[in-house]
Amino acid sequence: MVNAETPIVIAHRGASGYLPEHTLAAKALAHGMGAEYLEQDVVLTKDDQPIVLHDIHLDTVSNVAEVFPDRRRVDGRYYAIDFTLAEVQQLRASERVDAKTKKPVFPKRFPPRTSHFTIPTLAEELELIQGLNKSSGREAGIYTEIKAPAWHRGEGKDISKIVLEVLDRYGYCQRSDAAYVQCFEVVETKRIRQELNCQLRLVQLLGKNDWKEVDFDFARQELTKAISEIAEYAEGIGPRMDDVIRGRQKNGDLIVTSLVEVAHQHGLVVHPYTLRADALPDYTASFDELVKLFFVDAKVDGFFTDFPDMALQARRQN
Ligand code: CA
Repeated sequence: MVNAETPIVIAHRGASGYLPEHTLAAKALAHGMGAEYLEQDVVLTKDDQPIVLHDIHLDTVSNVAEVFPDRRRVDGRYYAIDFTLAEVQQLRASERVDAKTKKPVFPKRFPPRTSHFTIPTLAEELELIQGLNKSSGREAGIYTEIKAPAWHRGEGKDISKIVLEVLDRYGYCQRSDAAYVQCFEVVETKRIRQELNCQLRLVQLLGKNDWKEVDFDFARQELTKAISEIAEYAEGIGPRMDDVIRGRQKNGDLIVTSLVEVAHQHGLVVHPYTLRADALPDYTASFDELVKLFFVDAKVDGFFTDFPDMALQARRQN
């Protein structure tokens, strides 16, 4: 059985509850707060440079529309892959806004378009984390997501190969290293293990459509089959938090799906996403309780959160 150790806190896009996501400032804050792992989503530029960015688009987290107004595609969006690294480095990163309304996605967070942030390369981020590991004497791990590999391939780029080469260059290459690699695409996660021979721990991310509206407790066979297939090439799964805890029964009892139990039976760790203090699910009124429900009741091995400090504090209390 896995899960014997203390469950981990993964800083989702850094301490993104406090600073614009995926900026070096957000990563430094998360490191200082004590998060065990720092997440970095990675996409490629036109000149094949891996940068830390959640979307294939630049416009919701930067001023690209002002700096390069003519460079949008016909759908009105600005794609990182259409810009060289030198161009990306001219942009200012900012708190996320909605693509259509241009309003902040999380209104209580860091004010958009203030202070000065940039979009880092993957190498810059790894250097920051390793530098802080050295200067603080505490090692935080990395948790790298390879974004949209099929889409990148359609644009003529093998993002997985490029990202793994950078991780390798910075010393992340073995299973025992403080690193996870995550991806939503099943075919690509398998390829990362089997064809690209990555020895780092792999996490298969699972989105809303992967499980349809399957009720795990009534579809145990189907779930077991799916999980056993993932266990052949990965060390863990990253499900939506709603696929771990469904809510509450009328009598108030928590509805925990059998996902964690089945995953543990197959030796997989479970790291759901994303616990947010400013977007609580309706079955709890407090972030502290939410942390307890996931760690104690649902028995997950860790989770992604925008608020690593609060998660660590709640973990200490439980
Ligand atoms: Ca991610």
